[in-house]
Amino acid sequence: MASAWKADRVKSATTTIFAEMSALAVATGSVNLGQGFPDTDGPDFMLAAARQAIADGVNQYPPGRGIAPLRQAIAAHTARHYGLDYDPDTEIVVTTGATEALAAAILAFVNPGDEVIALEPFYDSYAASIDLAGGVRVGVGMFGPDFALDLAELAAAFTPRTKVMLINSPHNPTGTVLDREQLAGIARLAVQHDVLVICDEVYEHLVFDDAEHVPLASFPGMRERTVRISSSGKTFSATGWKIGWAMSTPELINELTAVKQFLTYVSGAPFQPAVALALQTGDGWVEQARLDLQQKRDRLADGLRSVGLKPVVPRGTYFMTTDVTPLGYADGVEFCRDLPTRCGVVAIPHQVFYDRVDQGRPYVRWAFCKQDRVIDEAVRRLGALSTPA
Ligand code: PMP
Ligand code: GLN
Repeated sequence: MASAWKADRVKSATTTIFAEMSALAVATGSVNLGQGFPDTDGPDFMLAAARQAIADGVNQYPPGRGIAPLRQAIAAHTARHYGLDYDPDTEIVVTTGATEALAAAILAFVNPGDEVIALEPFYDSYAASIDLAGGVRVGVGMFGPDFALDLAELAAAFTPRTKVMLINSPHNPTGTVLDREQLAGIARLAVQHDVLVICDEVYEHLVFDDAEHVPLASFPGMRERTVRISSSGKTFSATGWKIGWAMSTPELINELTAVKQFLTYVSGAPFQPAVALALQTGDGWVEQARLDLQQKRDRLADGLRSVGLKPVVPRGTYFMTTDVTPLGYADGVEFCRDLPTRCGVVAIPHQVFYDRVDQGRPYVRWAFCKQDRVIDEAVRRLGALSTPA
């Protein structure tokens, strides 16, 4: 229950579904396929570099924009992968995870009453940050069963009050990866309506099969109106390090950085040189991790099929979705509430990511960034679903 003191602007801020479900997993001894974090660590050389940095005394405030070698490594990585050039001195800022970059961007660019178009379902921090800024969320549905973007619906969402478009691809929770044609359509709309685009690309390297991640900033007219956000947490399996970044024009990065200063001031000193090293030398590790993850995706998809669930097989991220109504459940929340005691497994109901909750009601999200034996154990436990509840 909210206290009498709670401010209206944080009305949507409650304990996140991820924290709640992870606590439930611990309390019930369940296999946690809820919160998206890998159960193995990133590359050894990166972990060793952070330990070394601590031993070497890299433990005080780093520069506000992040250490120069990390900004240079981010710039070189972006140029190498996408042919996009950003000046490490003026066009990049290191943040406390992508979460802070998103919050700082939204606070920096959204005035009270401004409309922010975002793909619905939305990652949970978007709603909270837009509320903090006093903005108005306008969802454009990527709804089941196929979770595809309808450009006509996106085009219809613009009004004279639209200031920002918040795009996330690869998309959490659906696993949808927007293709070149869709991105080109989004870019045309952004230019036509003269809006700023905040692009959350944290899963940029977690794409499968023939899917390709293309930054929106690489389309005509977009570089100067796009804030690209990513994070080392997903790429290098270090979600607890909270080293993320934003890149854009010098003006936009100045404005975003001015807000970041007063959110956290600076970010994780000893992790910065370690992430710089990983960005410089870790492409091989990332590619292997991506291939491993694709196999884990297929392993979980087969497992879910074997217990009577039909997975929507994602082309990116480490999340997979199923409709649970064929199992006799009215909705995903009821299913996820039952699951720990019934089977000893935790998953996330889609519904919490929607304004139009009916659209999310039947769906449940499963994380597959887990060791094979953990996925197998979860599937074994889910076998109990074939016995009536
Ligand atoms: N955006 C999306 C779509 C995410 O799934 C996450 C996840 N964890 C974040 C942002 C936050 O990233 P970070 O942990 O680097 O703050
Ligand atoms: N992004 C992760 C997920 O979607 C969780 C991050 C968090 O706990 N805030 O599961």
